[in-house]
Amino acid sequence: DNAIEIRGLNKQYAPRGSQPAKQALKDVSLSVPRGSFFALLGPNGAGKSTLINIMAGLVRKSSGSVKIWDRDLDREERDARLAIGIVPQELNLDPFFTPRELLEVQAGLYGVPKAERRTDEILATVGLSDKADSYARTLSGGMRRRLLVAKAMVHTPPILVLDEPTAGVDIELRQQLWTQVKAMNQRGTTILLTTHYLEEAEELCDQVAIINHGQVVAHDTTANLLRKV
Ligand code: ADP
Ligand code: ADP
Repeated sequence: DNAIEIRGLNKQYAPRGSQPAKQALKDVSLSVPRGSFFALLGPNGAGKSTLINIMAGLVRKSSGSVKIWDRDLDREERDARLAIGIVPQELNLDPFFTPRELLEVQAGLYGVPKAERRTDEILATVGLSDKADSYARTLSGGMRRRLLVAKAMVHTPPILVLDEPTAGVDIELRQQLWTQVKAMNQRGTTILLTTHYLEEAEELCDQVAIINHGQVVAHDTTANLLRKV
């Protein structure tokens, strides 16, 4: 059973000014098994963010199909979206809200009833309990990243997607983030992350798909893939 199933996905960006039209994804097919820790590995410009942004509803696909937890993104968009939590690449957070407030607002947006909110538990999971009531503007880059992970978890999605999560995060905080994400995977959450670091995919993930110039050029278990390179 797959957590995410992508078939024949194409994305053509319209021309802008002097820039010609850009085929960012070319006939991409990809299966992310339930429970896996999956890396989408590729250099800058390969199409990783485009793929994530299509799942997040921020970019419209040109053609192809996307199923998230067996829900079709075209026909069952709301249910498909509810099955996924997305941790964006940018560290945008409203600076004058506290982590507790931001999680409560997010829970409200997702319609999580008050009685079912797990704000304290989620803050503990990402190691931010003692910052629960501090303004977001006082948090370090690593703490902001972990707060974005917490935000993506408020509706308890079975899939967590992280777009280049270690960009701009120092080594120590990176390790903390990985420890937390690994623990989530061990508790059953499917993890999909994008990265341009082979070492990151190798250390963390059980499956890797390599994307280059908008095409998936390899997909295998991490062990098999490393045997070939
Ligand atoms: P990655 O995340 O792997 O770095 P992207 O998905 O951001 O790759 O980009 C894939 C290609 O699509 C790149 O050539 C990029 O310049 C182009 N691209 C991304 N966003 C847009 C956009 N909004 N309009 C036009 N081209 C874009
Ligand atoms: P479906 O609605 O497609 O039948 P289910 O919600 O029944 O899917 O879940 C299928 C499997 O995924 C079950 O084994 C369930 O334990 C697991 N699962 C569902 N939701 C989560 C979640 N939030 N985190 C981890 N595993 C989950």
